[in-house]
Amino acid sequence: MRKFKINGLFKILFFISLSLASCSTVKSKVEDSKTVSTAEKDSTEIHANPKLVVGIVVDQMRYDYLTRFWNRYGEDGFKRLIGEGYNLKNAHYNYMPTYTAPGHASIFTGTTPRYHGVIGNSFYEKNSGKKVVPVENEEVSSLGTAESAGERSPKYLLASTFGDENRLATQFKGKTIGISLKDRGAVLPAGHAANAAYWFHGGKEGKFISSTYYMEELPKWVEDFNSSGKVDAYLKDWNTLYPIETYVESGPDSTEFEGDLDGRKTFPYDLKKLKEGKSGYGVFLYTAYGNSITTDFAVAALEGEELGKDEITDVLTVSYSATDYVGHKFGVNSKEAQDTYLRLDQDIARLLNELDEKVGKGEYTVFLTADHAGVHVPSYLNSKNIPGGYFKTKDFRKDLKKHIEEKYKADSLIANISNFQVFFDYEKLEKENISRKEMEEEVYSFMMDYPKIAEAYTREMIENGSFHDKIGERVKNGFNAKRSGDVTYVLEPSEISYPKYGSTHGSPYSYDTHIPMIFYGKGINKGASTKEVKIVDIAPTVSALLGISFPSAAIGDVLYEVID
Ligand code: ZN
Ligand code: ZN
Repeated sequence: MRKFKINGLFKILFFISLSLASCSTVKSKVEDSKTVSTAEKDSTEIHANPKLVVGIVVDQMRYDYLTRFWNRYGEDGFKRLIGEGYNLKNAHYNYMPTYTAPGHASIFTGTTPRYHGVIGNSFYEKNSGKKVVPVENEEVSSLGTAESAGERSPKYLLASTFGDENRLATQFKGKTIGISLKDRGAVLPAGHAANAAYWFHGGKEGKFISSTYYMEELPKWVEDFNSSGKVDAYLKDWNTLYPIETYVESGPDSTEFEGDLDGRKTFPYDLKKLKEGKSGYGVFLYTAYGNSITTDFAVAALEGEELGKDEITDVLTVSYSATDYVGHKFGVNSKEAQDTYLRLDQDIARLLNELDEKVGKGEYTVFLTADHAGVHVPSYLNSKNIPGGYFKTKDFRKDLKKHIEEKYKADSLIANISNFQVFFDYEKLEKENISRKEMEEEVYSFMMDYPKIAEAYTREMIENGSFHDKIGERVKNGFNAKRSGDVTYVLEPSEISYPKYGSTHGSPYSYDTHIPMIFYGKGINKGASTKEVKIVDIAPTVSALLGISFPSAAIGDVLYEVID
């Protein structure tokens, strides 16, 4: 590469000196030299692909975790990515519901649930009348466990990921490996043609497992990792990284706004003891160590899979799940959340360090984002006079069904209510001679009279309308014509269907949509921007960087200011 550039420079100097020799030709010769240098640049770009692309997802990471804890982060983690990379400060999810499975699918496919079809972590499947989990697949078998936790594949993901496109572009020589504590955090990013996806199986086992969808048996490096005792090494106290009294960026350690781990909600957490409880090794999910275990495994994968060892680009996806469990359990303002982010910063520093060593400084490209953000605990907001509250989906379901039964003197016309959507039973509607449109309007009116519901959108409105406001657009982008329900509702801001402690997500509001988006490394410019960008822009940008086809349903834009 360097040779090319020097050649180019010589040519430029040569042309300039030539043209200086004859004043009348200065202008045209300089133009020539520009043409040459652009051509040279293009030819180098084709060969300038990173050896490895690492896509990091931090589950439930709000953008303001970067700013709130900024002064507490070290130099080699988030600060290295931002200082040497490109920071998009105004990046958002452009659909609802903002859940984990749709989030991971959207990052790596560059499209929304409207086209990739992953409309929830689980959803009601109209044809079968069953609840399906989009990564569960009984046709494949578990690897690494006798339990069903390994029966996974990207079965319901309708679009390709950029990892899939890289596999196609490299004649399947460039690898794709997905890693997470959560199955959906590993399977969906890796995509359909991945070499492997690995996720953590808690309970009595505490191991990384996979599925026969990818391979016939676990590779030796995975077996070695599982028997290395690395996971067991974290069966110790989880205490704060720095003295707890210095954690002035978060609330008190014990509040009514946080849940507990087997009855405990203050540091230190004795994980050896907690592991004996009902979640077993699953207790790691609720601690900062869950992310350290993920990092250990990702580092082992770099070595075991020889990622980034040759000129053909590989793809590694790493999704940090513990941040989500900690947020759900203790809330976004908790000491536990602060400690989890300060430790994650160190884990990211460690991962970058390993990438420097194993792939080479300047030879890889990283992006970091989140699958959604999360709400401040509404009961905490209320204690400070800020609006928010608790919507009881169970009551709403009962009230709506009762209303419809009374109105039409027929039961079960509503087949399901999930993911902020009401599904009709079409057969029953037909039997009762009620048109879908009439039912949509009836449910819509009921919703608009119902407390805490801000807006409702019928199928008719979504399919035939175009929305020029962000919320309406986000509803439409999250709506899959075949899989979604018939009327969608949006709650008022900071209204959640959740216990009175801990944080959650799912809405189209900015506290759930505003996430970090940082690019770093080979081919990435240094800079920052507050321009609004969308989660679906990541996959097209990475595809453009690699010079490969965009994922099959990509609708995002290339962030041209980000790439070199
Ligand atoms: Zn999530
Ligand atoms: Zn979550």
